[in-house]
Amino acid sequence: MSELVYLGLGSNLGDRAANLAAARKQIAELGAVCRESSIYESPPWGIELPQNDYLNQVIELRTELDATQLLLTLQEIERELGRGPHGRGEPRTIDIDILLYGDAEIATTAPDYTLFVPHQAMNERAFVLVPLLEISPKLVHPVIGVSFRELVDSVDVSMVKPWYG
Ligand code: ADP
Ligand code: MG
Repeated sequence: MSELVYLGLGSNLGDRAANLAAARKQIAELGAVCRESSIYESPPWGIELPQNDYLNQVIELRTELDATQLLLTLQEIERELGRGPHGRGEPRTIDIDILLYGDAEIATTAPDYTLFVPHQAMNERAFVLVPLLEISPKLVHPVIGVSFRELVDSVDVSMVKPWYG
C-alpha cells in the first residue's frame, strides 16, 4: 500500500539550492514525486546565533515505504549530503522532515531516533506552511481537523519570500 507523504526540505549551508536539488533527486528514488513547491527563503527561525538564511521547499511524494523506513532513509540522505552530527537548530547542508504521512498520527520513541507525525512544529512554521499550501491549498491537518489555510492565518508569513536564485 502506498501513502501520500509531505516532506519539508531546508538548507542554510553551502550551495543551498544545489543541496535541495540533490535531496530532491534522491527523494525521487523513494517513490513518485507528485508535486514540488517553489523554493522560499527565510531567516533562521527561533535561533539565537547569527546564521545564513534558509532555503525551504515542500515535496509531495507517494511512497510504499512505511514511516520508519522513510525516516531512516531520509536520515541516510541527510548524512550522504554532508550533514554532520549537528545538534538541533544548527546550520545544516540539508534537513528533511516528514511533515505528514497520509492521515497517520505517529509517536515513536526508539533508542536511536524519534518519530512524531504530523511534524510537531509545522503548524507554527511559516516556512513550512507557505510552500505546503502552494502545492496543496485544501489540505486539512489530519489530527486536529483544521485546514492549513486557517492555520497559516495565525503565523507571520512576511519573512518567507519566494526565491528566484
Ligand atoms: P529539526 O528538524 O527539528 O530542526 P533535526 O533534524 O536535527 O531537527 O531533528 C532530528 C530528530 O528529529 C531526529 O532524531 C528524528 O528522529 C526526529 N524526528 C521526530 N519526528 C520527525 C519527523 N516527523 N521528521 C523528521 N525527523 C523527526
Ligand atoms: Mg529534521
